Amino acid sequence: LPIQKTILVTGGAGFIGSNFIPYFLDKNKGYSIINLDKLTYAGSISNLTEVAETFRHKLIVGDICDKDLVNSIFKEYKIDAVIHFAAESHVDNSIKTPGSFIKTNIEGTFTLLEAAKRNWKTEYGHKRFHHISTDEVYGSLGDTGFFTEQTPYAPNSPYSASKAASDFLVRSYHHTYGLNVVTSNCSNNFGPKQHDEKLIPTIIRKAIQLDGIPIYGNGKNIRDWLYVLDHCKGIDQIFHKGKAGETYLMGGNNEYDNLSIAKHICRILDDVKPKKTGSYLDQICFVKDRKGHDFRYAVDATKIKTGLGWEPIEAFSPALIQTINWYLKKYS
Ligand code: NAD
Repeated sequence: LPIQKTILVTGGAGFIGSNFIPYFLDKNKGYSIINLDKLTYAGSISNLTEVAETFRHKLIVGDICDKDLVNSIFKEYKIDAVIHFAAESHVDNSIKTPGSFIKTNIEGTFTLLEAAKRNWKTEYGHKRFHHISTDEVYGSLGDTGFFTEQTPYAPNSPYSASKAASDFLVRSYHHTYGLNVVTSNCSNNFGPKQHDEKLIPTIIRKAIQLDGIPIYGNGKNIRDWLYVLDHCKGIDQIFHKGKAGETYLMGGNNEYDNLSIAKHICRILDDVKPKKTGSYLDQICFVKDRKGHDFRYAVDATKIKTGLGWEPIEAFSPALIQTINWYLKKYS
């Protein structure tokens, strides 16, 4: 029989967590998951229908900042490991209302680290704490170059600053207390179950509602896109095989500027859901740029490729078409 493990997953009702849980449970038959999620506007029980019926997944609705709750979960369920997704994740919201980002992303991570330290006691050198983070902590690139694990941190938004702070706390619990931590920093994800507010769902939704498709500034800001399932596979590998105290970067090798993404989606929609007249491309419009908008993110994922054998396998266009079809079902 495989080893029986109980993993605390935080934020498992959000976009990436809810894609991760079914994949992870299917791959690791001896594991069960306690999913602690506050169900903020970004989380939804409907993201968890695939695992709703299994005795290996239990959702606990609560806040990662609630020290008593987190401690009681560690005790009651004898937690063996943590995979920490929970965060406030939308950059635009962090510009308008940074307070909740500081609270959840920094204080929430601190609460989980403290609970691991207190409850795992002498075992904490063995029990894994996997912190999920973003490549945005490295700031903005110019036209060339890539982020690596050696790139100095230079976060520019309250979101990325709060994630950077949480990365540093996680790092410090390894160096100071010997906690068995790994951190993964990933580029932009796309796929099913992402909240409506994010770029790709917004483009699809506005297009089919026949509204303007809003693009920040001149649309030239570049992001690297990784299909969410590829990210989940990488997390599984790092969780099992990553070296304690190390950081791993993941990216999709799919750099596109925002305008190209919008055009790409419009062309696919013209194909799969043609309008009566004209093209969805005609709906693209430019809006006032995001404050402090980072120009470019791109990732050199050599370390995880050579060290753990992970690389993205989903081709961009077919994965995007699948994603679009998922949102077409949701929005129609
Ligand atoms: P999301 O916003 O879709 O989901 C976040 C989840 O966390 C939601 O279910 C929400 O209810 C929950 N949550 C928020 N505050 C909480 C709290 N105080 N207590 C308990 N639960 C809380 O985010 P996502 O896109 O799935 O991102 C997950 C993680 O991955 C985040 O840490 C994010 O920084 C990181 N990340 C995301 C991307 C991306 O492209 N989406 C890329 C790299 C890294």
